[in-house]
Amino acid sequence: MNSGDPTTGNSQLPLAFVKPVFPGWCFVMRTLLVLFLVLGFSVTAFADEGMYPISSIDRLSLKDQGLDLSADEIFNPDQTCLVDGICRVNGCTGSFVSPSGLIITNHHCAYRAIQSASSPKNDWLKNGFFGKTLEEEIPAPGYVVRITESYRDVSKEVLEAVAAGMTSAERTKAIEKRRKELEKQAEEAAPGMRADIAEMFAGRTYVLFMYTYIRDVRLVFAPPSAIGNFGGAVDNWEWPRHTGDFSFMRAYVAADGSTAEYDKANVPYKPKRFIKVSSGGANEGDFVFLLGYPGRTARHKTASFLTYERDVRLPFVVGLYQWQIQTMDQASAKDRLVALKHSSRKQSLANVEKRSRGQLKGIRRARIVYKRQKQEDALQEFIDSDPQRKAKYGEVLGMIEATYAQMTQDAVYRLTLNNYVSSVRGLGLAFTIYDAAVERAKEDLDRETAYMNRNMDQTVDRAILGWKDWHHATDRIIARGFSKRLGDAKFSLDGSAWGETALSEESTIREMFEKSPAELAKVDDGFLKKVIEMYPELMKLREQAKERDGKLAKFYADLIDVKQEFQKASFVPDANGTLRMTFGHVKGYSPEDAVFKMPATTLKGVMQKTTGVDPFVTPREVVNKYLEKDFGPFLHPTLNDVPVALLYDTDTTGGNSGSPILNGKGDLVGVNFDRAFEATINDFAWNESYSRSIGVDIRYVLWLTGKVYQAKRLLDEMGVAAE
Ligand code: ASP
Repeated sequence: MNSGDPTTGNSQLPLAFVKPVFPGWCFVMRTLLVLFLVLGFSVTAFADEGMYPISSIDRLSLKDQGLDLSADEIFNPDQTCLVDGICRVNGCTGSFVSPSGLIITNHHCAYRAIQSASSPKNDWLKNGFFGKTLEEEIPAPGYVVRITESYRDVSKEVLEAVAAGMTSAERTKAIEKRRKELEKQAEEAAPGMRADIAEMFAGRTYVLFMYTYIRDVRLVFAPPSAIGNFGGAVDNWEWPRHTGDFSFMRAYVAADGSTAEYDKANVPYKPKRFIKVSSGGANEGDFVFLLGYPGRTARHKTASFLTYERDVRLPFVVGLYQWQIQTMDQASAKDRLVALKHSSRKQSLANVEKRSRGQLKGIRRARIVYKRQKQEDALQEFIDSDPQRKAKYGEVLGMIEATYAQMTQDAVYRLTLNNYVSSVRGLGLAFTIYDAAVERAKEDLDRETAYMNRNMDQTVDRAILGWKDWHHATDRIIARGFSKRLGDAKFSLDGSAWGETALSEESTIREMFEKSPAELAKVDDGFLKKVIEMYPELMKLREQAKERDGKLAKFYADLIDVKQEFQKASFVPDANGTLRMTFGHVKGYSPEDAVFKMPATTLKGVMQKTTGVDPFVTPREVVNKYLEKDFGPFLHPTLNDVPVALLYDTDTTGGNSGSPILNGKGDLVGVNFDRAFEATINDFAWNESYSRSIGVDIRYVLWLTGKVYQAKRLLDEMGVAAE
């Protein structure tokens, strides 16, 4: 550890649990500051990296940039603060925007909830949804809202589980087991809360986060898909954008305030703090910042990793997903029920497929592999310049490279087989049932995380939820495609899978989850039989993955150590689903020579794009209100129109979907939902010239909600005037 920062110290600082009972997040954050300072990142490192642990903001001079809040107002150990109003909604982010648990997030984040409540008769996806009273708000099965309450550094306890002489796979398993053990203990000590250990730096730094965990989440308002997904896959990851990608949900708890499963009698959750909505929006040049739960980035990974992504994994994903999307499209063309079943998965495959194409293009164009290789060459030179250092770290980069080279060799087979089981729903369900049975026979802590007692119910519920979208005819086509790709008859599903299946009723499926492996082997079902046959091969892949992860974690931990020594400044951890802050300005950009794109779009643009053909359809009521020029207070001061979407240079990734866009006062002025095509490579490297995030302007949200769809009760609840 070496940095010019006097506050740096030993990474094993005894960061005591913040308080025995769970304190405000703010206090937590203060301690988190210490955690990241031990890694010594300094203000200079802030210039080009942007997903800061929230605790570090008092080291930034954001006043000059336009932030009116003190660091203490964003987080404060002694009182509620802004971050108390932020939550995680499944893999997305949300903000509490009322004292009664009202959450604003993206339409694409609420999509699964809207879809599962929809039927050809009550087609909320197509027509939009508004619960006119609390009683009409609909349950969102499978949704969970988390609010970060506290954390502590558990690196020491986790890494103590590793003993000398362990193989890489043993190392992975030992770390996994210790993590599970600590999580379990933490949950036992704080009933109703959820514990989660996040790996901040691979093989090196682990932090135990405690979350309030709300399981009764309901859908409150969703615009029609024609608005919430306007432009569909064509416009996804593109700017200019005209998508009203927002929805409202609500968190509910038991009458005594404790978290509980869905129950009609539950009451709206009272957040410690809610975020004030400002109908003023944000305009070009304005300072904005985001709080959210970015999912994954790979900025600390090597050139060899990027090469693997560029040459192997990303092209594989593009090809595989394009074919699956096309298959689902064909199956959906004439039947709305089938289209509804496929809609959620199709949407997420299309999202990843296009992002992968953007990443492929960006990696090449921004010469990311080349640049990272250059940095590594310099690092290697530094390592080799000192015999002791060379002895310790000399092989690290080479070993990482060798690991990815090895992964490349069997990548197509491995990725195809894993995707086979996850893509063919019948196989996926049968696998979860059988795998659960095998794992259940083990001690709780030795099981895969999904099958531990604390997670089992959720795993079963998720499997059932997925099963509801099962369409046998499509599954059959997809299964055939996969067996062709795998090129080996032993993987193909024979006719018995497609006739009567034992997995046709929810109650039977729940019973299956009670059976032992031996009992399951006797069930007459084609999917189960195939899974049992393939199981040893799948377990071999699982074991190999653990072996690889163990190796990589060890090498990456060494790499971070020596990089810190070399650069004398250190690093913001890669995104890992924990709370971060990023900031920037509403700002256009030049994606290519001679092109400059402005940072705001308007309703006029929606009308111009509207062709009446999917995905560019605009509901009649929107057109009418536009023609009436009934814009209320939501007009842009200079554009003389309702602003629809915003572009800004923050540092975001998946998981920032639904993050509030906050102005300098900390008021919500929009909701983040995407990035520009060039910014898809944010996941590998951020750059001021191409990294742009996209959000829906709050004025469009409020105009649609209050004016067009007359959901005035929501505006009242948020304290916003519609006139
Ligand atoms: N729209 C994106 C997603 O769903 C959000 C992002 O990655 O910036 O993943």
